[in-house]
Amino acid sequence: MHRRAFLGSAAATLALPGCATTMATRRAAAAPIGCLPRVLVSPDRVIRTMAGLRPYRAPGFVVRAEALGDKRLVHNYGHGGAGITLSWGSSRLAAALGLQGHQGPVAVLGSGVMGLSTARLVQEAGFPVTIYAKALPPDTTSNIAGGQFHPFGHFRRSEVTPEWRTQFIAAVDYSWRRFQIMVGDDYGIRWLPTYADRETPEEQLLPTFPPHNRLLRPDEQPFPWPSVISYDTMYVETGRYLRQMLRDVQVAGGTIRVREFATQADIAALPERLVFNCTGLGSRTLFNDEELRPARGQLAILLPQPEISYAFTGGDGYMFPRPDGIILGGTFELDEWDTTPQPQAIANILAAHQQLNARLRCTT
Ligand SMILES: Cc1cc2nc3c(=O)[nH]c(=O)nc-3n(C[C@H](O)[C@H](O)[C@H](O)COP(=O)(O)OP(=O)(O)OC[C@H]3O[C@@H](n4cnc5c(N)ncnc54)[C@H](O)[C@@H]3O)c2cc1C
Repeated sequence: MHRRAFLGSAAATLALPGCATTMATRRAAAAPIGCLPRVLVSPDRVIRTMAGLRPYRAPGFVVRAEALGDKRLVHNYGHGGAGITLSWGSSRLAAALGLQGHQGPVAVLGSGVMGLSTARLVQEAGFPVTIYAKALPPDTTSNIAGGQFHPFGHFRRSEVTPEWRTQFIAAVDYSWRRFQIMVGDDYGIRWLPTYADRETPEEQLLPTFPPHNRLLRPDEQPFPWPSVISYDTMYVETGRYLRQMLRDVQVAGGTIRVREFATQADIAALPERLVFNCTGLGSRTLFNDEELRPARGQLAILLPQPEISYAFTGGDGYMFPRPDGIILGGTFELDEWDTTPQPQAIANILAAHQQLNARLRCTT
């Protein structure tokens, strides 16, 4: 399934607190690309392979409040292939729903990217937090993510409501601004020019996102695709980021408890009267949400190549260069639950990238 199939179209911003928008969209011609340094793709450069399950919902992610006994329960799950991207913004929406009129300690279920950003926002609002999670980083789906800031693979256009789209745009807006103030080595976030095999520039979800979004002329782009767009976006080294976020929660006085919840009655028995549900795909059984489905993604990680300072997405797969390795992806396999990397799928990923490499050309 192609990344572009999932992108939304509305363009609106919501005045959430945070840093001010600083980037203006630029459409000026970029400098010539020249010869892009090649990723060295071969089986002997593979340092690990991974398969993870994106928590995909065709009707879109769930940010909603309900009562559970005497508690307020706020859901924040189902972000498909865009959970890193949407984390701050979706969690900001959830926090606003839950904290209104609340007093006292708060429970967050889940310690992936959604649970950690929810916990930080609750702390920033002045409330004590306990995170309860079956698994902590590095053993979460969030650790497997490639880490591109782009809202890919998390809904089906025909199934979302206008109200959901408003939430979605608000989530992208806040996340986009929040990640910008975290760029750097501490959190493992950096900007990279990105190329995608598209015939038209992507719709502007926000006046500033995606920035520098333009269609390249055939003579100025090195890829063997009929047409290519370029834009700049951020990339998150997820292992480093989640480790730092977990520390941030602890430094701010948060408590972490490793605990699995089998039933809603277990949750109802917690001492906190406000609970955020950030259990990702775990919500399928815990909250009987059968619209939540796994979308397996398989990745091959190659030895790092610091000279690679661009990324691409296309029919041949995607390539995100990170300090901890070159991420080659990827598959999008709905309803596959097995998290064992499949040798044939990994071989296909490598072969596709080798073929693409052989067809890259230099531009002047
Ligand atoms: C191959 C791949 C590539 C991806 N690439 C990108 C990308 O480039 N950009 C992007 O934005 N997104 C990407 N994603 C998507 C992203 O990884 C997910 O959307 C995101 O990780 C979801 O975060 P989460 O916190 O909701 O879930 P998780 O990370 O799964 O965390 C869930 C937490 O809840 C806990 N939990 C679950 N059930 C229970 C229970 N019953 N009791 C107690 N605790 C429980 C878990 O232990 C865990 O701590 C990718 C995903 C995959 C698989």
